[in-house]
Amino acid sequence: MSAQTHLFLCLKDNYGVLVHDPGSGATASIDAPEEAAVEAALKATGWKLTDILVTHHHGDHTDGIPALKQRHRCRVVAPKAEAQRIPMVDETVRENDVVRVGGLAARVIETPGHTLGQINYFFPADKLLFAGDTLFSIGCGRVIEGNAEAMWQSLLKLRALPDETRVYCGHEYTKANIRFARTVEPDNAALAAREKEADAQIAAKRPTIPSTLGEEKAANPFLRADVPEVAKAVGLAGSPAWKVFAEIRERKNRF
Ligand SMILES: [Zn+2]
Repeated sequence: MSAQTHLFLCLKDNYGVLVHDPGSGATASIDAPEEAAVEAALKATGWKLTDILVTHHHGDHTDGIPALKQRHRCRVVAPKAEAQRIPMVDETVRENDVVRVGGLAARVIETPGHTLGQINYFFPADKLLFAGDTLFSIGCGRVIEGNAEAMWQSLLKLRALPDETRVYCGHEYTKANIRFARTVEPDNAALAAREKEADAQIAAKRPTIPSTLGEEKAANPFLRADVPEVAKAVGLAGSPAWKVFAEIRERKNRF
């Protein structure tokens, strides 16, 4: 049976998302940004929380864990490299481990950069990617603990997934990301199309995610650092892709 998802805003601009297996009734919360928002989502869906799959240790992804764990006695799965910094972890995972949520299965993809131990969860049967703070729609996470070269390699791992993959990220940053992306690729038609789509979504008070990985490959400058025109646009024609990525990331930090 296919996975069902329920997306909701938490805190200021974080996204929470529930992944539900209708076959077994199992339900995972991807991260736990805010207890009350996750509880409201469970109430709205009637789903029972069985698992929390954590992407990284930042408080706006983990603060809801203790209260949810206490109430629902759910399993907490977290990256091995960050388990010491995440509350109430039951199970640690690393690259290529398979995490089961009832009858659903996710593959763990390690994506160091935003944090050193960050992981993403990919459900191959449903082509669902939970990208945490690694990949945003038309953007990517700040490189806080890792370095630009590692972050670029992490993004390449995500870019290798199928185009139809639906990408759920940790924040609603799409509009600001598009404004920046246009400074890098003002003539990118896919980016213009994404802007039109995002404007319509925002006007209708709908989330701008999930996007598809195909859309991101075509319009997200952080996935396009190895495109010659992009390197040229930031004055780095012929440079290694990770250096082009680093320059784009620096420009975004100052934007
Ligand atoms: Zn974060």
